[in-house]
Amino acid sequence: MALRRLVNDAYAHVRTFRERMRAAGVHPGAITGVADIERIPLMDRRAFASTNRPDYLRADTDPALCRRVQTSGTTGMPLDIFMSPGESLYRKLLLLRAIRKNTTLPLPFTIVEVGTGEVALSRRGATQSLGFARVVRIPRLMPVVEQVERVIASCPDVVTGPPSCIEILADELAERKGTVAPRLVISRGEMLRAATRDRLREVFQCSVVDYYNCDEVGNVAWQCPRDTAIMHVNTDACIVEVLAGERRCPPGVSGRVVLTNLYNWTMPFIRYELGDRAALVHESGTACSCGHRGASLSLLEGREGDYLWTSDGRRISPRSVDSLIAIASLCVDSNRYAVRRYQVVQQEDGRLHVRVIPETENLKLLAERIEASLGRLDAKLPVDIEFVDAFPVEPSGKFCAIYSKQHPPHQDQPRLTAGSKSARGVSSVTALRGLRCSVRRASDRGDSEKRESERENRTRHGDVPFD
Ligand SMILES: [Zn+2]
Repeated sequence: MALRRLVNDAYAHVRTFRERMRAAGVHPGAITGVADIERIPLMDRRAFASTNRPDYLRADTDPALCRRVQTSGTTGMPLDIFMSPGESLYRKLLLLRAIRKNTTLPLPFTIVEVGTGEVALSRRGATQSLGFARVVRIPRLMPVVEQVERVIASCPDVVTGPPSCIEILADELAERKGTVAPRLVISRGEMLRAATRDRLREVFQCSVVDYYNCDEVGNVAWQCPRDTAIMHVNTDACIVEVLAGERRCPPGVSGRVVLTNLYNWTMPFIRYELGDRAALVHESGTACSCGHRGASLSLLEGREGDYLWTSDGRRISPRSVDSLIAIASLCVDSNRYAVRRYQVVQQEDGRLHVRVIPETENLKLLAERIEASLGRLDAKLPVDIEFVDAFPVEPSGKFCAIYSKQHPPHQDQPRLTAGSKSARGVSSVTALRGLRCSVRRASDRGDSEKRESERENRTRHGDVPFD
């Protein structure tokens, strides 16, 4: 049984897991199968942030020989995930199998990955041959015109990426009347809204499916080919639990997603809280109309990065913001992230309020780097940086690292100008005045509901040039 072997191995070789189990008074011998999994204490990403790397890797691991995945996206807490080459290959094969659930492709085929972060790109390269597939990565900070040219030149069979990035690309593609004819578009990493799915289907003229992927596991679940509202859990990759408090939610009731990665023994994620919400819709053993038999999910709500807006009304993918924070973070010390956790909230007046839990003493330099980095989005957007010790816990348990309180700019709304009251040159000084200040109470409560309705009212805009 995969879980029992994983738990025994982690207990023997991974110090933090062993200490966690001992603190809870649980011996690995008590875990004989999935039914016992609830006895294992929960963990989340903070456990890694506060621990030395050797303590959460398998004791005989040489990080230099590992494959590394940098957590991408909008969690606001960077993390490097280590895997052995064999585990990394297995992860790719599981993804390939998930793709083939939704389309049949002759091997080898070409996957275009849109929205790749700069750090991941530097590690994995712009193109990569996996044997069964050629992967072409499109940097999320590349000017969108160049992104379109690269996609067209790649003749992709599959286009995949965060929907916020694919949609920006699709809009440009439609405007230029460019031709790309993929067999499948796979949205991942963010919630796929119905309007975005329709738009991508219209532009790419193929099926658009939603996959539940995360950096910690790879493919968690794939969309049912018959029912767009259901995702089938990739049970060879992970065990998915949905919890309310400490208890498992009954089918159809949404709760917090807790994952156990079954194949990564190098850096175990066992009962790991992902920060997403979902509901189990099928119990294991129930057959779906597509023939799949096993646990299935409904992503009722999730971690939804939101678009930010430039001063002249163009939208900014949250993934681009995440890349720029990562770049700034590594500019302070190239060996580690100077940002442990962050949140970027665009205020009603367009200003970017950045709250950072730092991992460096050099706060002045970090503030300058973040300000300069975000200035690439739009030099006219004022940036305020606030260093904090912690973020307040939202009543929902969710944390949104990047979002906008601003209405999408329209012609009849006032816009930021270069002469706006908070000039960027001043902002970092005011930010540094508040160093290590106490945590503000979340004034953002209730915003998520408001944003939901605003989101639907947004109009389409062009993307941000990064030159
Ligand atoms: Zn199905």
